Amino acid sequence: MKKKKIEDGTLECPECGGKAKPMKISVAGAEISGWRCSCGYEMLSPGELEKAYLFLQAQKHERVKISKRGNSYMITIPKAIADAIGIESLDMAEVYLKDRKTIMVEV
Ligand SMILES: [Zn+2]
Repeated sequence: MKKKKIEDGTLECPECGGKAKPMKISVAGAEISGWRCSCGYEMLSPGELEKAYLFLQAQKHERVKISKRGNSYMITIPKAIADAIGIESLDMAEVYLKDRKTIMVEV
């Protein structure tokens, strides 16, 4: 028999008493499992709170130094960002210029 996870069912909304349905809720760009009621009240799954926290931590701006190796320039990716999205050494990324002040890194 398949074990039913708490995320599979509806929850009673503590705000209006209605039924909150399970869905993904965007928190700081992270898709977190939770419930949303038609009144707008949202609850996050307790097991996913750390994921939301890591994404919030990773959105703090950090100053990093640009260094040079050969003909290329390097910047480091702060640990908070790596932890939030699970970057590993030797992963590939796409880098391009968005505008005069913005370099995009897509992983
Ligand atoms: Zn409600």
